[in-house]
Amino acid sequence: MQQAANQTENTQALVVVHGGAGGSRDQDDGCQLAAGAGLDRLHGGGSALDAAVAAVVALENDGRYNAGSGAVLCLDGESIEMDAAVMDSTGALGAVACIQRVKNPVLVAQAVSRTPHWLLAGEGAERFARVAGFAPHHQISERQRAKHDRLMATLATGEAATPGVANRAFADYWNYDTPRTFQPCDTVGAVVRDGAGRFAVAGSTGGSAPSLLGRVGDTPVIGSGFYAGTDGAIAVTGIGEHIVRRLLAYTVYGWIAGGMAVQEAVEQGVALFPQEIDVGLIAVTRGGAAMHSNREMPCAQVGA
Ligand code: ASP
Repeated sequence: MQQAANQTENTQALVVVHGGAGGSRDQDDGCQLAAGAGLDRLHGGGSALDAAVAAVVALENDGRYNAGSGAVLCLDGESIEMDAAVMDSTGALGAVACIQRVKNPVLVAQAVSRTPHWLLAGEGAERFARVAGFAPHHQISERQRAKHDRLMATLATGEAATPGVANRAFADYWNYDTPRTFQPCDTVGAVVRDGAGRFAVAGSTGGSAPSLLGRVGDTPVIGSGFYAGTDGAIAVTGIGEHIVRRLLAYTVYGWIAGGMAVQEAVEQGVALFPQEIDVGLIAVTRGGAAMHSNREMPCAQVGA
């Protein structure tokens, strides 16, 4: 699915957001609002990173995307483990993995970027969030409860809930406290170029389902789910287990840094994967912006 692109070399501010490969274009309105929130932040004097984070916070709060308030439920029907990351072309880098009980993981990831570390995970990440002033938050959305019920029904029928993975694997390695009982992906991300030509990326996800407790995908992994440098910013969505094997964000970034046009680079990135694997990319460079996915993917682009 090829989407809007702008190949003119300039330093016009640009904000591009996605709502996850495998989502619905009916959700473009939320992406449009989020991109607008990012642009407002830039106009208010915020950095490219502030703008990317503002856009992702809007998507986390929307409730329709698999991030923040809409994050997918774990197989126990109770836990919610989230990943998020931020990076910019001035050297900022922060991420959280498997964090629970926070409203906006991307804000915690931004807070991690101010510590001596780049990635905090699990209980330590949650404790850090409290120290940094983020209140406890655990709310299961109606949408995710319904999705969880459907997933359980699918697992019970024996139809593979994850392409190429036997449902039995989740039962064999079950690592939840609750007795073994028996959902697709739609993460969010934003890439920004500010008027001074700096680049930033932010991403957030509830992960994929079904998955074991403690599973981390590509979203908080530098070079896989995200990358930003002086040549641009890239955000990735899709099935993390496949994306990390290709170091997808850094691979696409490398092509762009080597002179490839941004639209060609995102298309080539998606083409690395077989059709049955969901994958999508958004990118912003000095020359423009592009979005591409092999599934429907809500998205929006605004510039000023
Ligand atoms: N990439 C995310 C993950 O594997 C899911 C997604 O993009 O929808 O955790």
